[in-house]
Amino acid sequence: MLGFGSIGQASLALLLRQLRIAPSRLRIISRSPDRSAIAAAHGVEFLAQPVDEQNYESLIDAHLSAGDFLLNLSVDVSSLALMRACRRRGILYLDTCTEPWPGRYDNPDLPLSQRTNYALREEVLAFQREQPVAPTAVVTCGANPGVVSILVKQALLNMAADCGLEAGRPAGRQDWARLAQRLGVRVIHVAERDSQVADRRKQHNEFVNTWSVDGFVSEGLQPSELGWGSHERHWPADAARQEQGCGAAIYLRRPGIATRVRSWTPLEGGYQGFLVTHAESVSIADHLTLREGGEVSYRPTVHYAYHPCDDTVLSLHELAGKSWRLQGRRRILRDEIRDGRDELGVLLMGNPRGVYWYGSRLSIGQARELAPHNSATSLQVVAGILGGMVWALRHPLAGVVEPDDLDHDEFLELAAPYLGRLAGVWSDWTPLKDRTRLFDEPVDRDDPWQFLNFRVN
Ligand code: NAD
Repeated sequence: MLGFGSIGQASLALLLRQLRIAPSRLRIISRSPDRSAIAAAHGVEFLAQPVDEQNYESLIDAHLSAGDFLLNLSVDVSSLALMRACRRRGILYLDTCTEPWPGRYDNPDLPLSQRTNYALREEVLAFQREQPVAPTAVVTCGANPGVVSILVKQALLNMAADCGLEAGRPAGRQDWARLAQRLGVRVIHVAERDSQVADRRKQHNEFVNTWSVDGFVSEGLQPSELGWGSHERHWPADAARQEQGCGAAIYLRRPGIATRVRSWTPLEGGYQGFLVTHAESVSIADHLTLREGGEVSYRPTVHYAYHPCDDTVLSLHELAGKSWRLQGRRRILRDEIRDGRDELGVLLMGNPRGVYWYGSRLSIGQARELAPHNSATSLQVVAGILGGMVWALRHPLAGVVEPDDLDHDEFLELAAPYLGRLAGVWSDWTPLKDRTRLFDEPVDRDDPWQFLNFRVN
């Protein structure tokens, strides 16, 4: 395991238990010895060692050989470099985010298009095409990205069943895309409301989060990015297209943590979330694209609508006021969380029956009962890691795969025990609900499913 932050610590006990790994077969390498006592308590060897462009290959040679598994849960270490090294040596691989070497996400000298997840994904796809049959490397497989790509498929099947539509057994991406099209799905939000709270509230000059502060601030300062649906009629003034690659997503010339959108989850109701870029916004949109004669005939708009825990929202507010210079102090909430849950699901919109949310409701209490060293948020991520790792072990020569490529029912069976209650709920919510009551707003009343209507101006 590379990296032993919030997700590494959260994964450890379950990896040992569920994958039946002897502690002596697991080794952790991480930049600093923080929390190495947790590893020691499980009898797992811990090496404090920063990994960089100069030493990563020799570290892999020293610690791994053919048939082994590299679980990459670090930040600031290039996923692509690790994957290349693993492929050459016959080592299986999984990560939960496509990370570049430091200095790419927030490098003002790079074109904005290069700071996107779209660009990082295209590099991974090019690597995949170089050698389709190769040791399995599962990329971006946590909760989101990760589990949510699987939830989209289950949501489509549930919607079809509820609407009396014969869905059959979709076999590949075209089948899933056709099913989404038949169901009228125009927009998919990864709709997440984290309501976890600790007694000690956010302090002045402090960034608080329920997972990596570095990871969240990095992705939050990338350009906002979304899969761009074929039904969209209003081009956002600050948007740009990518010139290379699949063309499934666009980006906005502003950070995701300065871009708010309206969304909905069953327990929270309507809320405003942040349109932070995420790998799944691009991969789900790409996987659900249909083409006729080379032209896109169907694609849903797909993006994240993240309402982090309240103290993170306050942290973001302070960060924006400091022109995106990170606060001096950082705190990841876990053992001090007193209450709350993470409601994480997918919201599929456009079907005449209403919008359909399908996802995980996991409270902090449930998470603690299931595994030590977890918050609700981290356990949802671990669910995806376990699902992806078992899938890789069962399919060791699948090459580079995204969560969207994995068998959804096999994956869901593995991940579901750690997702709390999986709920599917229909609603009559639309982004136009209760709008323009007090002030005029630019909305398109003829089609509620325009990005224009979701975006908070
Ligand atoms: P964290 O900041 O808590 O921990 C990161 C770990 O990486 C730390 O142990 C740190 O010491 C280590 N590290 C940093 N630089 C290193 C280097 N150069 N060499 C070796 N180790 C290094 O982060 P986290 O919350 O545990 O997240 C880990 C990864 O998982 C991030 O990429 C994050 O974006 C991703 N993530 C994905 C999801 C998802 O649902 N897909 C959710 C949460 C986090």
